Amino acid sequence: MLCHEMIEDGTSSDEDEQLCPPGYESGCILEYYKLCNDARKKKLVDCRQMIKVYVEINPHEIKTIDDQKEEFQVLMMMKLWWKDPHLKNLRCTLRMDSGEDITGTIVKFSQDGNIVMKCKDGRTRTFKKSEYVSKHIQEPDWDKQFFPSFTFINIQGECNDLFKPIYEVVWSDQDGTFVSWRRKIDGTFAERLELHYFPLDRQLCRIKITAEKPIEDFQFVMLKKDHKHHFSRACDTFKVDQEMQKLCGSYVRYCDFELPFPSQRSMVNVIFHLDRQGDYYFNNMLLMVFLVNLMGLCAFAIPLHDASGRLSLVSSCFLAVLAYRYIINEILPRKAYLTAADKYITFACMFLIVICLQTVVFVIWRRGIEEVKEGQLSLASLWTRSTLDFYDYVLGVLMFIVWVAINGYLWCLWKLSRRQDWGSVYLENEEPYAPIQECQACGLQWLSKQCLHMETSKCPDPSCGSSEVQRKYLTPKQHPDPLVPEQYLPESPHV
Ligand SMILES: [Zn+2]
Repeated sequence: MLCHEMIEDGTSSDEDEQLCPPGYESGCILEYYKLCNDARKKKLVDCRQMIKVYVEINPHEIKTIDDQKEEFQVLMMMKLWWKDPHLKNLRCTLRMDSGEDITGTIVKFSQDGNIVMKCKDGRTRTFKKSEYVSKHIQEPDWDKQFFPSFTFINIQGECNDLFKPIYEVVWSDQDGTFVSWRRKIDGTFAERLELHYFPLDRQLCRIKITAEKPIEDFQFVMLKKDHKHHFSRACDTFKVDQEMQKLCGSYVRYCDFELPFPSQRSMVNVIFHLDRQGDYYFNNMLLMVFLVNLMGLCAFAIPLHDASGRLSLVSSCFLAVLAYRYIINEILPRKAYLTAADKYITFACMFLIVICLQTVVFVIWRRGIEEVKEGQLSLASLWTRSTLDFYDYVLGVLMFIVWVAINGYLWCLWKLSRRQDWGSVYLENEEPYAPIQECQACGLQWLSKQCLHMETSKCPDPSCGSSEVQRKYLTPKQHPDPLVPEQYLPESPHV
């Protein structure tokens, strides 16, 4: 019963078998235990009567990503298919070649257009597609029929429908009617941005969809396609990581076989793997900060006896760097930690302070040498004013080299686009694509409960039982097969 599809395929390794959610068959969980933590209330829930809802989500474009508000706007097409067992005997009118209209109720209707109809005269007749000119199926009142109602958990405000949702009768047989539904959605969704690496950060922008009925009523299944939808249009400031996006653009979160709560709902996550195009920040801000500091280094060209000239140059550079810091802070949301850009600017400020302190120390020192000379207490000294000026000059050259070298190194990092790996992005976002736990004592890995993937439990191996357990969030690169296998649409009946 455990994910035998994957095993039959011969594509799974031993590890995959361990990491299969239990209770699944053909992409749906057939039964589960609710309230599993309470031995008296624990109960098996049978989900075999549920309706399987096939989902396809085709994003067209990410219009904007607002860093400050931490939200993004997406235009996408959402398609659902399901078989409604209560939708039968639809009325249909066929216009024949002769111009005659034949009306009746549909008994069977295939996707290629062949119809078995119970006509008004009580006879059951079969019509091939070539036998009639057009057909008109009288649509039921869709509001009164089954609909897999769902909500976007992280939507901001209302989502704009670009056109009314479209229903379509795909095929029909004695067990019900297969219906498709599609809707174009333009919505804004909230997503917490992780900005440790800003402006070389990677973002996981997600749309979270949850069913409004328990899994006994219906379950989402991702539609399997032979040709994957290609999505590339992100806004100017971000680029889609094609390699990751091809591996996984949307998936169904698996349901738990042993659930500590009274009920669970089917959930779908849409994910976008985005790399920030940091050039704007590099060219407009960080480069300027670099140049301002270079200007600060010019203080070494001012002779030491003109202390006020030196200090005023350094302090005006300091203020200029601070101004850039405020500009960046206005773009980004407030975070408790420092972003990489913040760290760079703080480093630039510290560098200027070092120049300032060096000046102050040398000026005081120089004054000391003067006083000693005036008091005729000659220390046969190494430290004359001219040698001090020389050391000041050497220090200036050294600091220039250090500043240029460090920035050269950072520039190389940027040009090589050395970004953080997706594994750590998934961990930071606690992205439940494939959440696992790993025992640090024996190395055993097991699948987390989807409902509690942020908590760790003890090692399930009775001989180990260690509580040193680490959470991990596998990426589609580490686990390419989605945990809930995708499914093809069921075939239409033959007529
Ligand atoms: Zn263990």
